[in-house]
This record gives sequence, structure tokens and C-alpha cells, in this order.
Amino acid sequence: MIDRRRFLLAAGSLPLLGSAANAATPQAAGQPLLGNPKLPQPDKTTRWAIVGLGTFATGQMMPAFRSASNSRVTALVSGNPQKARDLGAAYGVSKFYDYGNFDTIAANKDIDCVYIALPPGLHAEYTIRALKAGKHVLCEKPMASTVAECEAMIAAAKAAGKQLGVAYRCHFEPNNADAVRRLQAGEIGKLRHVSGDAGFDLTPQQWPPHKWRAEQALAGGGSMYDIGIYALNAALWAAGEDPVSVTAVYSYPKDDPRFAEVEGGVEWRLRFASGISAQGSSSYCYTYSSRHQLFGSEGNILLSPSMDYGNIPMTLTKNFVSSSPRAGSASSQFANQIEAFSEAVLANRPHATGGEMGLRDVKIIQAMYQSAANNGAEVKL
Ligand code: NDP
Repeated sequence: MIDRRRFLLAAGSLPLLGSAANAATPQAAGQPLLGNPKLPQPDKTTRWAIVGLGTFATGQMMPAFRSASNSRVTALVSGNPQKARDLGAAYGVSKFYDYGNFDTIAANKDIDCVYIALPPGLHAEYTIRALKAGKHVLCEKPMASTVAECEAMIAAAKAAGKQLGVAYRCHFEPNNADAVRRLQAGEIGKLRHVSGDAGFDLTPQQWPPHKWRAEQALAGGGSMYDIGIYALNAALWAAGEDPVSVTAVYSYPKDDPRFAEVEGGVEWRLRFASGISAQGSSSYCYTYSSRHQLFGSEGNILLSPSMDYGNIPMTLTKNFVSSSPRAGSASSQFANQIEAFSEAVLANRPHATGGEMGLRDVKIIQAMYQSAANNGAEVKL
């Protein structure tokens, strides 16, 4: 087990102490680097507004702020004032906004960062408004509905001189990160192929928050936008390069009334210039499942499930022998992500999963849709 701070250091999300850049600091004269009053000390805590108090924000992210050492919630933004007040009471937050007066967060000096947890069709609007208000933004995945929206968000972050992160939480999940670390360390030889699946059964009748997921305007896309994006992003993380082409087909029951506006499933393949290949599926029609496997020339690593909130077992197989290494608990991923974003803001350096990554993934999913609409024809990227 590694604790969160050591995980962030290992993941490259914290500045390395004692590095070459620090060699000429007072540390070299035998003084401790941390806490040295002669060195500039950035503020150690960021203050956050949470926008959209839905299932994920209230179920996973807000509780995680309690264990994020450098971040705290200072404002809530919601269309439901009573819910906001109740959550405010539980979290010790007394500043509330709605979507109409959201821009007035500009005047609130107790907000440094904004976390956008709205349906994807609203990501671009609220991200850009937050950036214009002078705040850093961590936006949920998928980054936005369209490539043009993602580009506008990146342009707004540049214009504001603020951070824009996309909340790819699995980058901060210890076993997902450890799989990539092992791959990069050569433990399974050279990467040849990646395979990943992610899906769940979309049931808007039983679970109302699923309703927007079937509506193009709010969801931006279907299963691939919402959940398949995890397998895609994980494949690209492992490959370490962008694909040169994509093919995809739609795969869901014909005439399923749930999918009048968005797709219910996609099977996809990516090709990379190095010769690596990747394939996967997303679905709103199979029961909740997630799986991610890296096939190397000398072994393979399986994460199954690969994107749970609570448990992500790893199986490493080499020479016909399997082991189950564990780098840490999946439940720490939310606080890890919050801390890493705050570290990036405090240190004024790009967050590990920034806007360009979100844009890349939306571009590739759009290419998948283009391929699927043309009977699986290859689309060059
Ligand atoms: P929910 O529907 O549960 O929450 C969305 C919230 O957005 C609502 O509760 C509401 O909050 C607000 N909202 C504002 N306008 C609308 C609208 N027109 N329709 C619906 N909601 C609206 O969704 P989730 O929490 O599941 O998803 C929110 C975001 O988080 C999405 O971008 C999703 O992709 C992402 N997500 C990420 C996950 C991850 O693992 N990283 C997992 C699940 C979701 P209020 O009442 O306060 O105004």
C-alpha cells in the first residue's frame, strides 16, 4: 500500500524534492527543503465551488474533499436551493449560487477552482463561464459534446491564464496507474495490444439520472461518450501515442426505444503508427461491466473491473504464472484526483489530464461515430 502523497509523487503529480532543479536551494546547505521560510511558499489550499449536485458529485467527489489535504469546498452551485442548503449544512458550506447568478462567482475570492459535474451538454458553457470568472476548472468527462466546444474551452483557459482539467479519475487510481507504470518499466515486454470494455444497462425508468444520458443535447453522445470513454482513454494512456486510424460499428438491439437519440453500443478498433492495436466496446445494453487488458510481448496485465469506485484487482501474468499485485485502494482515486489538480494549480503547472486530452478523446469518438455511420469504414486521424 502506498499513501496518497507517495502515490502522487510516483504519478508525477507533485514536484520531486531534491531534483536537479532544487540542487542549488538551501537544501544543499543541509536545511530541510519543505517548510523552509526562505523559499516562496504558495498557498497550500485551494477553495472549490461544486457545480451540479447530482449523483456523482454528491456520492463520490464531495465526500472525497474530506480527505483531500489541500482542497476544500467553499461554494455550491445548483438549480435546487433546498438540496444545496442541506448539503451545505453537511459540509460546512454557506455560499450558494444558482445557474442564473453563476457568473457572480467572479467576485468571490474564496473560490479558486470550479468542479463541473453537469451533464456533458452543459460542460462547455459552464466551464467557459467559470474561466471568464477567473477560476480554474476541473470538468467531468466527456469534456464536451463537440470538438468545437472542447476547442473553445481550451481557448478560454488560455485567455484566462487558468488551468483546465478533465476529470479522468482512473489516472489517479493506484492500480490503473500501477499497470501503466509496470508496462513502462518493461515488466510485460513491449506493448502489442490493448483491449477494453465498459458499459452498463441504461434504465431511465428506474433511475431518473439516466434520462439525460439518452438525450443527445445533454449527453453529447451515447454509451461511448459516457462510459466507453474510460476504455478509450485507458488504451491511449497505455499506448503512449495517438492513433492514426479508427474503425467502429454500432452494436445494440435493433429498434430499442431507449436509443432514439444516442447510440446504445459501439465496438471500436484503433491502429497506431508503432504497430500497436487497441480494441474495445461500450454499451448501454449489457450489465455494468468494465475490463482493461494490456497485452505485452512477455506478459499481460488485466484490470477487471477496471473503473470501479471501490475495488480494482490487477492480474499480472508472465511465463504462465499469475500474481495479483495491489498498489492501493481504488477508493482513494477521487481524493487523489482533487489533490493532484490542486497541486497543479498551486504549482502553476499543467494538470496531468488537461483539456488537450479531453479534446483528443472527443475527436476520436467523433471519428468512431463517422466510421460506424459508414458501415465500419476506416477513418484516418
Ligand atoms: P446526475 O444527473 O446525477 O447529476 C447531474 C446534475 O446536474 C443534476 O443533479 C443537476 O444538479 C445538474 N443539472 C443542471 N441542469 C441539468 C439538466 N438539464 N438535466 C440534468 N441535470 C442537470 O448525473 P451524474 O452525476 O451521473 O453525472 C454528472 C457528470 O458527471 C456527467 O458529466 C457525467 O459524465 C460525469 N460522471 C462522471 C463519473 C466518473 O466516474 N468520473 C461517473 C458518473 C458521472 P442540481 O440539481 O444541483 O442543479
